[in-house]
Amino acid sequence: MKRIGVLTSGGDSPGMNAAVRAVVRQAIYQGIEVYGVYQGYNGLINGNIKKLELGSVGDIIHRGGTMLYTARCEEFKTKEGQQKGIEQLKKHGIEGLVVIGGDGSYRGAKALTELGYPCVGVPGTIDNDIPGTEYTIGFDTALNTVIDAIDKIRDTATSHERTFIVEVMGRNAGDLALWAGLAGGAETILIPEDNHDMEDIASRLKKGQERGKKHSIIIVAEGVMSGNEFAAKLKEATNLETRVSVLGHIQRGGSPTASDRVLASRLGSHAVDLLAEGRGGRAVGIEKNQLVDYDIIEALAKEHVLDLNMYKLSKELSI
Ligand code: ADP
Repeated sequence: MKRIGVLTSGGDSPGMNAAVRAVVRQAIYQGIEVYGVYQGYNGLINGNIKKLELGSVGDIIHRGGTMLYTARCEEFKTKEGQQKGIEQLKKHGIEGLVVIGGDGSYRGAKALTELGYPCVGVPGTIDNDIPGTEYTIGFDTALNTVIDAIDKIRDTATSHERTFIVEVMGRNAGDLALWAGLAGGAETILIPEDNHDMEDIASRLKKGQERGKKHSIIIVAEGVMSGNEFAAKLKEATNLETRVSVLGHIQRGGSPTASDRVLASRLGSHAVDLLAEGRGGRAVGIEKNQLVDYDIIEALAKEHVLDLNMYKLSKELSI
């Protein structure tokens, strides 16, 4: 391949910039030209495509967000939209595309692959919910943002002897809630992968109070219910007054951690290697600290699985 494209799509995540940088630098290192597709699949359909040079990606490795911007694009879910995208790529002489994004963006890359256009998916989402990789770019940064918030909330919870409910992102996957709960020493973690028994939660809180515990932190993944909804249910079941913190979009921003920058650099480079070898239709990932890649169609057919042993451990350590 002589010329490839790169885009970021869906919800942004810290480290996407580092991934874009890796794609651009690795491609140019291998003598391949790189074009940036701006505003995700929207920009692909509209031809918002510009050549990137070594200097285009200077000074972005440490920045959150994405210099290529991101967007959601309903039209790209249609065959016509996808064909328009392929026409734009061909018009620009682009022979392969790196798509950095979450599972929705992967479905877009899969659609292009099925239409015969070579794409490689790079997992960029704070949700850590992409099959075919143990970690996604942005998860570690978001986790550290949540931990920073929990530590601060814990100070107030201790001073006021209160129970705090912290709502974190995660519609379908509880990874962020689980890891944050384990690392933040939460008493209870509510994840979408499990059914939650209010009586059990109430009795755990009561036991804690009986042994002299004056405050508690409860983490709720947004996919289970909102923090406020859970506070109302808990009040109904236990008459316990709580305070709710909804962390919201701060979880998606900020400077990526060293770990996310390294992951993004490795995965972005691996995506270029695959396209350079003429191996499109792949999804890159990291497993046991080794780079891996899978057929993107097969990868999407699998489900991301939360580590249930870790969930069990979180319960054992929060007695
Ligand atoms: P994320 O990539 O973070 O999961 P979304 O689910 O919003 O974010 O997906 C981002 C974009 O990917 C969508 O706006 C759409 O353009 C594209 N996309 C999602 N699902 C499909 C699909 N089934 N076919 C083609 N494109 C899709």
